[in-house]
Amino acid sequence: MSTRIERIELFSYELTYVGGRYVMSGGRVVTSLSSTVVRVTTAGGLVGHGETCPLGSNYLPAHAGGARAALRELAPQAIGLDAANPVAVAAAMDATLLGHPYAKSALDIACWDVLGQAAGRPLCDLLGGRQQDDFPLYVAIPLDSPEEMRATVARQRAAGIRRFQLKLGGDPLLDATRARAVVEATEPGELVLGDANCGWSLRDALTAAAAMEGLPRFCLEQPCATLEECFRVAELSRAPLVLDETIVDVQTLLRAWEAGALVGVNLKLGRLGGLTGARLLRDLGVSLGLGVSVEDSWGGDLTTAAVSHLAASTAPGALEMVSFMNDWTNEHLAGRRPRSLAGRGAAPDGPGLGVEVDAELLGEPFASFPRA
Ligand code: MG
Repeated sequence: MSTRIERIELFSYELTYVGGRYVMSGGRVVTSLSSTVVRVTTAGGLVGHGETCPLGSNYLPAHAGGARAALRELAPQAIGLDAANPVAVAAAMDATLLGHPYAKSALDIACWDVLGQAAGRPLCDLLGGRQQDDFPLYVAIPLDSPEEMRATVARQRAAGIRRFQLKLGGDPLLDATRARAVVEATEPGELVLGDANCGWSLRDALTAAAAMEGLPRFCLEQPCATLEECFRVAELSRAPLVLDETIVDVQTLLRAWEAGALVGVNLKLGRLGGLTGARLLRDLGVSLGLGVSVEDSWGGDLTTAAVSHLAASTAPGALEMVSFMNDWTNEHLAGRRPRSLAGRGAAPDGPGLGVEVDAELLGEPFASFPRA
């Protein structure tokens, strides 16, 4: 059956946050985000889907309009390529357009979906094999008062969540109070990340790290905006660091590792060009002995399905936490599959992404290639 790409269609839909207001450092607030879906149809009739949903326009160098403009450049060049060869499609995308990994991610995931269907295997089988039947999910706790954040954590614990990512990056001493309040509400075996999302200056990060020193089962995530500042935080404090936004390729991961600046890495599909790039950094991170977390900036069922397969194919000892974005958003294109259960997630068993997209919910494409 031919897996040659015959048609590429682009769709958009709106994803609203289940918690109302998602608050991060720097006054960044998200209530609703625009997601872009790619549908690839092959000559043999297989249909693959992928999704990209940047977290607004001031989180990473990415935005919804940029994803769509980039995909309009990429899609015509991808017609005729073999969707069952995602590495070759990724190389062709790089030859067409530099950068824009978040846009490429959607097309990359759609090609992996086709490859899985062509092979008759769930994607986790092709990404290294299913290493674990289920894995721990985390939930982000929006920046708020220490009492409110602690109450949110208590609610999530009652629902089975044992991994928490606090949105910090405000006043460093108040952030330490927030972190302490939450850690006290957790128990051994649980993990708390204090994620500043690049929001602290070096000075504020060092103040926060000193004030949080000694907190058990606690790590700081992405304290400052640049790798160099994070290296200084690692050098001048005792805080264990997880890096996220500044790890964009093999080179940045190796530099951070050589600097002894991280104990873990948070991998987002959209920041790394999709499953092809994220798989490479996942394998490298595991080989370096790092804790590896797998997620995306934002997204719905399709993003969650892609994330679930990379997570399921990661060794249990290395996989730190995973986000099921479809638990954070109200709209569901595939019946809210895969679905979390008591704080844990699993990858679907069906071929490819293993989810059934409701074409009616997807609606009409805003662009189709080749153009009629
Ligand atoms: Mg993060």
